[in-house]
Amino acid sequence: MASSREHARLRSRMVDEQLRKRGIQDRRVLGAMNVLPRHQFVPDEHKPQSYEDRPLPIGDGQTISQPYIVAFMTENLRLKPHHKVLEIGTGSGYQTAILCHLADYVYSVERIPRLADLAGARIGDLGYRNLDIHVGDGSQGLPDQAPFDRIMVTAAVPRLPNVLCAQLSQFGGQLILPIGAAPAQELKLITRTADRFTTRNLLGCRFVPLIGRYGFDSKTDSTSFVS
Ligand code: SAM
Repeated sequence: MASSREHARLRSRMVDEQLRKRGIQDRRVLGAMNVLPRHQFVPDEHKPQSYEDRPLPIGDGQTISQPYIVAFMTENLRLKPHHKVLEIGTGSGYQTAILCHLADYVYSVERIPRLADLAGARIGDLGYRNLDIHVGDGSQGLPDQAPFDRIMVTAAVPRLPNVLCAQLSQFGGQLILPIGAAPAQELKLITRTADRFTTRNLLGCRFVPLIGRYGFDSKTDSTSFVS
């Protein structure tokens, strides 16, 4: 088992080589990824790969996303310390912890109870209290807690769910999400101003499917998506 000093060294190298050199510039995002212990979100059998440049399995056919994708999505959301955020697809909880570090309050929804429980325990152990993890179908958002300043979806949807757009703040609310079936997915950023929505295409990507009412069918084969 590597020491905490060794983990800090690997993390600092991850930030330099995988993030900064590829164009991630936001100092708050780089700072969060430099301090948050990604290895604590990775199952024991994959801990030695915790700071490698790739997604890793977390069980139940799901993955913890590649560090670059976590940084890229977070940077593009331009989070402010006062923001209220909705995340859909808690997974390991690593991205959730980054959001907790950078925003005021985070609601996160995960479909698989085991993952939600593990994520909640890990983030709690790190001392964050500004979050609420729900188990359920996040494709419908969390209408009771809306509006949100920012929404991040960490699994792919077949098309833009209007129900999520409607839960964005009217004052510059932003939603980032991957749209499309593998292998032709695109990461998009939606911005709301009053009742006007603009869309920006950011990056080609590969995420596991969001399974739910406004997502893919539960019979969809996750392995064909490879996040
Ligand atoms: N960002 C996460 C991390 O750092 O570990 C990885 C998220 S993983 C790529 C996508 C997650 O979305 C999986 O945990 C999956 O169970 C979850 N998911 C799929 N469909 C969902 C739904 N309808 N509602 C909530 N979560 C869902």
